[in-house]
Amino acid sequence: MNTKFIVVLGSVMSGLGKGVVSSSIMKILDMYDFKVLPIKFDGYLNYDCGTMNPYRHGEVFVLNDKGEVDMDFGTYERFLNKDITSNSSITGGKVFGEIIEDERKGKFLGQDVQVIPHLTNEIQEKIIRFASKNSLDFVVIEVGGTVGDLENGYFIEAMRQLSLKESVVFVDVTYIPRLKTVGEQKTKPTQSAFRALMAMGITPNFLICRTDGKMEDEIKKKLSMFTSLASDRIINDPDMDSPYQLPNYLIEQKFDKALLKLLKYKNHKMNAKKRDNWNVNVENIVRKEGKEVKIAIVGKYVDLRDSYVSVKEALMHAAGKLSLKLKIDWVESENLEKDGSRTSLEGVNGIIVPGGFGTRGIEGMISAIEYARTHNVPYLGLCLGMQLMTVEFARNVCGLTNANSTEFNPKTKYNVVDILPSQLSVDKKGGTMRLGAWDMVIKDKNSIAFSAYQKKIVSERHRHRYEFNNKFRKLLESKGLKVTATTTDNKLVEIVEWSSGFGIATQAHPELKSRIESPAPLFISFLKAASNKLYK
Ligand code: GLN
Repeated sequence: MNTKFIVVLGSVMSGLGKGVVSSSIMKILDMYDFKVLPIKFDGYLNYDCGTMNPYRHGEVFVLNDKGEVDMDFGTYERFLNKDITSNSSITGGKVFGEIIEDERKGKFLGQDVQVIPHLTNEIQEKIIRFASKNSLDFVVIEVGGTVGDLENGYFIEAMRQLSLKESVVFVDVTYIPRLKTVGEQKTKPTQSAFRALMAMGITPNFLICRTDGKMEDEIKKKLSMFTSLASDRIINDPDMDSPYQLPNYLIEQKFDKALLKLLKYKNHKMNAKKRDNWNVNVENIVRKEGKEVKIAIVGKYVDLRDSYVSVKEALMHAAGKLSLKLKIDWVESENLEKDGSRTSLEGVNGIIVPGGFGTRGIEGMISAIEYARTHNVPYLGLCLGMQLMTVEFARNVCGLTNANSTEFNPKTKYNVVDILPSQLSVDKKGGTMRLGAWDMVIKDKNSIAFSAYQKKIVSERHRHRYEFNNKFRKLLESKGLKVTATTTDNKLVEIVEWSSGFGIATQAHPELKSRIESPAPLFISFLKAASNKLYK
């Protein structure tokens, strides 16, 4: 087939930023006007990410089509500025599940079903189907984990087999540590990893070397000698101010030229407009000057920043667009409960309560929302942050003592947030929340929501089981909580706002659709308010 496949592997250790490398390669190919999409393989036996703990695994990213996927998908979408589907996600759980289902149906009658060739064939067929269905020029396949892991061995073998029949380029993202005591960058771990890959029948075509500080020329020469790779195939990926700078840095090292030469593309030119547009946006994000705006994110998973990566990125995109210098204060909500003081919120220009599950830290988040409302600090609530904005208002403005969500107090008399009726019959936890993109209709032209989106029908992504309880809608509205958007059938509340000051919260996760090239409208409005108190 015409599609070319680029397989991105990782060696030496995890956490090297393969997702950013894969995204950067896709962005560069997109700048050449190639049609490219990703496939991500994750070796775990979960069917998807939906049942994982964000505290351990990082954020669960949600796609338009309801897919609950690895946070790398957020990086792909933010770089590519394209909506990706669940077909791009292959997990160990999915492929083993499918092969066992096929076996039960009798697809392999008379055979003993094996990892090689049955599972490896299935993986290749899946990828080839994906490429042809989407008429792709390129598929960038990111292999989760590290070379040598038991979990991804069969997938890497499938990629080796794919390279026997299709045009496949292997890129190994590797680590060159600097030994402090001798002050030198060391190539040995990469040499060993290269040999390990060769023992698996794979010779990487490119090495992308993570380093702190620039990679020394000597190191490049040494690696070239040990791996027999020409020096234009050994590329540096040093620590940078922002991952969005990587595509440009790869281009500066002529990675694009070397890749196209390898694949025998002759007359392809980069679309200069696309590159310029990207660079302008990146420069805005990494700018050092500008008015500073300090935003507190009050959550329960703040120790692992990856849990809120899309919120952080959405803030960065919006700050870039508005030429603001963003400072994020991560506030552990439980700490607001412990001493009752809210000194950590003093002086912030805006407060966000992001999504979350479970009882821990909830009262601290409610306290932060009350602080925002009573101190005229702009507030943005995301999913759980909208449910708690409702609870705070019910308790402190409407006098509904101990009002709550039944998620946190199933016995509350004032269940202003309650389980979605559609969730009552749900007995399985995986993939059963209200998920994916849903349209909402903005009812009020004088709302913050309308001034942000500038249109009536808006689509945002969702992931929740609880909702605003319509039984209390009249009462809450009569006291000044404005319902400014609902689902198109008017059944579910999607956005609420305070009548005075800047306070807006949505049942959706607008952060999931924010891209560097198209920041989320609600984040733009929120930062505008936080930076100049437009809505005072
Ligand atoms: N726990 C809440 C619910 O399930 C909020 C979920 C979220 O913030 N994503 O409805």
